[in-house]
Amino acid sequence: MPRQNLALPQDGFRFNVFHQGAQPSTLAPVKNSAAEVENFAEIRLLESGRNRFFWFGLGDPATGDFRLPGFLLGGGAQPPQAAVELMVFKRGTAFRENTGFDEVDGALETYEQKANGSWRRLKFRTENRACDWFELTYRIDGEIQTRLNGPLAVRPPLALQVRKFPAAGQIEIVPESDSGAPVKVEISDGAKTLWAETVPAAGTLKIDCRAWAPGQYRAVAEAGKDRVETAFTLPAPPAWRGNRLGLDAEVLPPFEPMTCSGRAVTVWNRRYQWNDSVIFTAADGRIAPQLVLMRSDRKESFRLEDFKVLKSSPTAVDLAVTGRADGVELHGTVRIEYDGLAWFEFDLAAAEPLAIEGLALETELPETMATLFHGAPLRSLNGYIPDGTRQYPWQIYFWIGTPAGGLGFVNESREWFDTPETAAFATEKADGRVRFTVAFRGRETFTRGKLTFGLQLTPVKPLPRRSSDFVTENWGNRSRDQFPQLAKYMDFTTVWRLNCPYMAKICDPGGIDFAPLAAAVADSHARNVAAIPYFAPLSFTENAQPEFVDYYEEWIQTPVNRWKSENTIQVRCCVASEYLDYLLWQLDRIQRNTHCDGFYFDGAFPVACSNALHGCGYVDAEGKRQPTYAVRKIREFLRRSAMIARQNNRAGNRAAENRFGSPPYQVWIHISGAVAPPMHSFATAMFAGEWFKQAIKAGANYDTLLTIEKFIPRYLSEPWGIPNYFLAIINKDSDPVRHTDTALAYIIPHGTGLYPRYLDPGQVRRVLEAKERFGTADARFYPPGTPPEGIRLEADPKQVAIGAWERPDGRILLALGNCSAQPQTVVCRDAAAGVEAVHGRAQCSASDDGAQRFELPPDSLQLLIIQRK
Ligand SMILES: [Zn+2]
Repeated sequence: MPRQNLALPQDGFRFNVFHQGAQPSTLAPVKNSAAEVENFAEIRLLESGRNRFFWFGLGDPATGDFRLPGFLLGGGAQPPQAAVELMVFKRGTAFRENTGFDEVDGALETYEQKANGSWRRLKFRTENRACDWFELTYRIDGEIQTRLNGPLAVRPPLALQVRKFPAAGQIEIVPESDSGAPVKVEISDGAKTLWAETVPAAGTLKIDCRAWAPGQYRAVAEAGKDRVETAFTLPAPPAWRGNRLGLDAEVLPPFEPMTCSGRAVTVWNRRYQWNDSVIFTAADGRIAPQLVLMRSDRKESFRLEDFKVLKSSPTAVDLAVTGRADGVELHGTVRIEYDGLAWFEFDLAAAEPLAIEGLALETELPETMATLFHGAPLRSLNGYIPDGTRQYPWQIYFWIGTPAGGLGFVNESREWFDTPETAAFATEKADGRVRFTVAFRGRETFTRGKLTFGLQLTPVKPLPRRSSDFVTENWGNRSRDQFPQLAKYMDFTTVWRLNCPYMAKICDPGGIDFAPLAAAVADSHARNVAAIPYFAPLSFTENAQPEFVDYYEEWIQTPVNRWKSENTIQVRCCVASEYLDYLLWQLDRIQRNTHCDGFYFDGAFPVACSNALHGCGYVDAEGKRQPTYAVRKIREFLRRSAMIARQNNRAGNRAAENRFGSPPYQVWIHISGAVAPPMHSFATAMFAGEWFKQAIKAGANYDTLLTIEKFIPRYLSEPWGIPNYFLAIINKDSDPVRHTDTALAYIIPHGTGLYPRYLDPGQVRRVLEAKERFGTADARFYPPGTPPEGIRLEADPKQVAIGAWERPDGRILLALGNCSAQPQTVVCRDAAAGVEAVHGRAQCSASDDGAQRFELPPDSLQLLIIQRK
């Protein structure tokens, strides 16, 4: 199209080319339709005298063979600078924001080349056969000149992959020849050939390399005229392998040593007693789960026949139990640890094949002990237990209880649940009772099986004295000088990579620059605030350390999960692998070199893993490998991390003065509401909230995203015994003061830890100052539903959250959070006439009977000081 025929607007125009063929393709990177103008390509006519790049080919993306010929045309004041970026990936891969969640399986490779002044033809050959799409960007002098995308296939004529399994002393050779010709493979150490064989065109060969010395090796494959060569290293046995860090049999504070007497095991605040069931009885007999065998015409509980204490110590008690139900014998062990998790491993065997309907774990509770349910990891699965029957989908963790505590069930796979597993759990509420059922799989004919699960009463430990005053802010937050201003209210701070250059790559505990981190920690300690650095512990940055290359195959979660983050590739590894040894070893080293008080972990929930190298996964009835979830390994990881932090602090790290009653170590986990104490017991705090980020970015706010029903129990601290922080996010484009008030209406009355990073600083400071003036530091906190004795408060508990602090002199600070879109009324009886409003816009009035009435505006927080009569 000759230029003189084009009449173009001066500032250019946008366009797209959409090809509707067998494989539709689009020039512009549109997402949902070909008509998204905002994503269209932009055409600008360059004035003469600009640098530009003239390119005239792509090579053959259909075979993964990119050739990018072209030349740079100067004309500008400086020689032209060209950069080409090629990204190839599997379509459907979502390159997510790095929030720790929502990652999608995919594969990705990036290639980049920069040229200054002159251009050499570029060749790229993609390697990962999972990739099927490319995006190519040319930049000249930093500006995008051209962007292209399209389908691609990766078919090098001959490929050779070497997979290493150093811990197992094995390598796997994977040759692939497109011609189908046999492949001659030879491995040498540079001097001599160690292994050579001619093998079929495709397949996997396992080679025992235990006798090979650590060092460099070379593998060469030849098929016909094609030849490919690859180098690999076998590592020396590492120092971190099999370390015992954090394994000491010591009771971490604030837990208490456990005791065992007769048929009772006592841990902090709980006593598990074995009477006539194979499962314990607790809470003075009010919680008595039964393992039930169901036949077509009857059901029978497994009765306890024998009970033995195998081992008892302050940290763990091991029991052996036997039982029987309707012709099925049960032999099992129970391990109880000092946080109150009881782990059951039951071998069940029928004397002869038995027709059964299923197995179930059944518990019946008074309605007052089971008002709420909570599942994890499914974050929407929580709320009030409804009247009648409700079924719930399978979860790793499922809990019923009240804001004061409850009973949690945990398991590591779906092996014992039918698919679809929409009815794994059920509640039946009627006549003042709630029956909670875990419905294990029904089998037509039962002969034998192994059933493993855990039960744990919550809360698991006492909350720190001042957990209802907890506030945190990031160290060195540059955008707002929040940290120094809030330091006096803070229990601990986290040191983030954005504010302190201690870790160049996001998931790389082996790549720490100690000096800047130690300086940040020292600055924080000078303000009497404990400091912990950020880690995303369950992933590593590809190629960041030699270990991530050497142990890749042995550490990864399978199916493999990789994603792009900040121009690096993140790989999810499995905590059930030897990676745990490596990670703990690094954390210990970091703490000893920087004097940090513990660790921040972004994510601490087990992922689905089928990698048999870690003992993960199981084979289902159809012979398919299914994943398991390493609950006990995550638990071990957090417990050992906490123990390492505790011991290093004791051994001379100057932990900050503790003004809030926290234990002398900090392990903070970002779990966004997926609370599961069997895994998270040993953490000193949890943080939630960021998972609303997308909705809030899209314009929503807490006035519609949250209700009290959604907030409890997952964002409270009391049911778990683990302090919970809520990171409230507000849309900065809207009214920040109003939305801050909406968030505080949930956070303050519930005594949830405040993480005000995104909130309006003035509004936050006014609330903190009001609490400080009252003196919440020396006051007792009463969470919603448990008012101070003698004070009667009437309000709709589903719309209004009421928390209170009472000082020794009887003065009470009431926090009234209207969490609804309508005005709400709170009536307070039996308090003295004097009411002092210290924050908020409520209308207060006294009625004739002496009661105080507070009219609360929608979505707002009110703080009032009252005095007892
Ligand atoms: Zn695994």
